[in-house]
Amino acid sequence: MGRVLIIGAGGVGGVVAHKCAQVPEVFQHITLASRTLSRCEKIRDDVLALTGRKIDVAQVDADNVPETVALIRKVKPDLVLNVALPYQDLTLMDACLEAGVNYLDTANYEPKDVAKFEYKWQWAYKDKFEKAGLMALLGSGFDPGVTNVFCAYAQKHLFDEIHTVDIVDCNAGSHGKAFATNFNPEINLREVTQDGKYWENGKWVDVKSMSVSETFDFPGVGPRKAYLIYHEELESLVLHLKGLKKIRFWMTFGDEYLTHMRVLQNVGMTRIDPVMYKGTPVVPMEFLKCLLPDPASLAEGYTGKTSIGCIIEGIKDGKPRKVFLYNICDHAECYKEVHAQAVSYTTGVPAMIGAMMMMTGAWKKAGVVHMEQMNPDAFLEKLGQHGLPWHVKEL
Ligand code: NDP
Repeated sequence: MGRVLIIGAGGVGGVVAHKCAQVPEVFQHITLASRTLSRCEKIRDDVLALTGRKIDVAQVDADNVPETVALIRKVKPDLVLNVALPYQDLTLMDACLEAGVNYLDTANYEPKDVAKFEYKWQWAYKDKFEKAGLMALLGSGFDPGVTNVFCAYAQKHLFDEIHTVDIVDCNAGSHGKAFATNFNPEINLREVTQDGKYWENGKWVDVKSMSVSETFDFPGVGPRKAYLIYHEELESLVLHLKGLKKIRFWMTFGDEYLTHMRVLQNVGMTRIDPVMYKGTPVVPMEFLKCLLPDPASLAEGYTGKTSIGCIIEGIKDGKPRKVFLYNICDHAECYKEVHAQAVSYTTGVPAMIGAMMMMTGAWKKAGVVHMEQMNPDAFLEKLGQHGLPWHVKEL
């Protein structure tokens, strides 16, 4: 049915390429482009071996708008699917506008020199995308992504009013390394070293990093301690959920992870400002990234499960109701299917489904659009069919 240009050949990019290749009736032509061509070639060969499909590869620096526009004009995709890093969001949106192509990403923009993510930079593109009659779908991963769609589904089918949402994210898997991050180390560490924040009664409430915790009973995993952190989907969900009083985001971290992180933070290794070393400016966080395992390399031998979902409370037919919408995903099963671990898989599958929604016309809206603004039913139907079955549990 169409042509897709995937940008970014990391852990998530690999899953997206495999999953698009599994659906030839939608993704007739696939090009995978990234900064390092050899990573695209490795994924191309793996996709051919596992699915029998040939995909094209290309080298591109997505920070460079003219170079990216030239690639888009050559490939002529219906959609650019951005699974590079959040730093590339705005240049890729600029390139899509110039070349007249729809856009999708899985993480919101953050400037390289400030560890702060906010939608304001991408929301500023709303008029431009509307005028061009193009769609930019933001945050089509798991969280953000499926969590937003779970909220939209709950609002449409399960509640008359939603009062509280707790998004809970547990990775109970084991990769056997002393310390590693499950997606890009730089982006992951910037996210978890920030102070936490949640929204209650119309106001944002700040909390010190990792200072608030609670134990949740994660389906398929059991009780685990999770920490309140700030996460980007809160910013759009407070605008789109009717009657909302409180929304928070929780993530589990093992004691080993927290100890490593505290030490790295205390010695300055998570700093994002340049430090002079022997006459050369070095950004400690960027150097640390070079030392840590590549998230894609964790996949082989990773065991255990992820369990991610939304615990939602509110009112239905005049009575209080509390439900848990969730997915459980097994690292080893993901490896068997697409040679990836579950964190890459749970991001890559929804990215492919978001692209499918746009390319088939099931989701069509000009402008800058969040997942919860679209009809959740078709998306969730496909999510289950393509590897991420989901469940609703009455609490
Ligand atoms: P990786 O670091 O494994 O991969 C990133 C890829 O982007 C690499 O191939 C890298 O190239 C490429 N890249 C970086 N800069 C450029 C550039 N200027 N031009 C072209 N390509 C570039 O990250 P992940 O695959 O783990 O994560 C990908 C995205 O997914 C991130 O934005 C992350 O925040 C997001 N994510 C979203 C989640 C969700 O649930 N919504 C969960 C997990 C991740 P090179 O190989 O040269 O370094």
